[in-house]
Amino acid sequence: MNEIVTLKDVTRSYGDPPVHALAGVSFTVTAGEFVAIVGPSGSGKSTMLNVVGTLDRPTSGRAYIDGHDVQAMSDDQLSALRAHRIGFVFQQFHLSEGVSAVDNVADGLLYTGEPRRARRERARAALERVGLGHRMTHKPGQMSGGERQRVAIARAVVAEPALLLADEPTGNLDSHSGEGVFSLLQDLNAAGTTIVVITHDSELAARLPRQISVRDGEVVSDVRHDAAVVA
Ligand code: ADP
Repeated sequence: MNEIVTLKDVTRSYGDPPVHALAGVSFTVTAGEFVAIVGPSGSGKSTMLNVVGTLDRPTSGRAYIDGHDVQAMSDDQLSALRAHRIGFVFQQFHLSEGVSAVDNVADGLLYTGEPRRARRERARAALERVGLGHRMTHKPGQMSGGERQRVAIARAVVAEPALLLADEPTGNLDSHSGEGVFSLLQDLNAAGTTIVVITHDSELAARLPRQISVRDGEVVSDVRHDAAVVA
């Protein structure tokens, strides 16, 4: 099977005396999976997402992302890997204020060097895909939280990444908007995108096909529910 993420005995420590944010984590995510990383605050979820997203390197152990050995790569190579292969979605959206939805999304393609017109065309298609065809020229301040998160998701997937990483994507939304964003992620997964989502919401996590539970920097369970797989 095509392994998109492989962590082998990964540790990540901070400071002196060291705090072990990750204390020996191993798991594999294969293409097409939709995985929740669940755990209370301080359990190591963000650190794990940073390692999986190549924003941070393990203190020890190995991380292979999309077939690349993270330890063996330079910072520039990791930036290129992120730009081409990984999409990020954050709780706080991280959109540029004062910039239209279409240009926020087109920014996700800056690394391609494509002319603005071509990037905008692809951005428009991505916005259609997330149900925001009617909000192309709106700026973040003119949109609801749910709509802003959809723009952020469009930006994350416009380059068709191998892996979509989402950090509490519904954490800032009311339950109705959160539900919409959740079902959008399900649609993207059903269409083939591999997704890893961090959440402290165990109810939401229970609806995903696989949950990796984390406590004190360790994986305490890794459960698959075949019945929950979205058709
Ligand atoms: P979570 O995302 O589950 O809330 P984190 O990965 O943010 O957990 O943090 C795990 C542990 O590592 C916590 O004890 C946190 O205080 C510590 N930690 C995380 N990042 C840093 C850092 N940059 N410096 C020092 N300690 C950190």
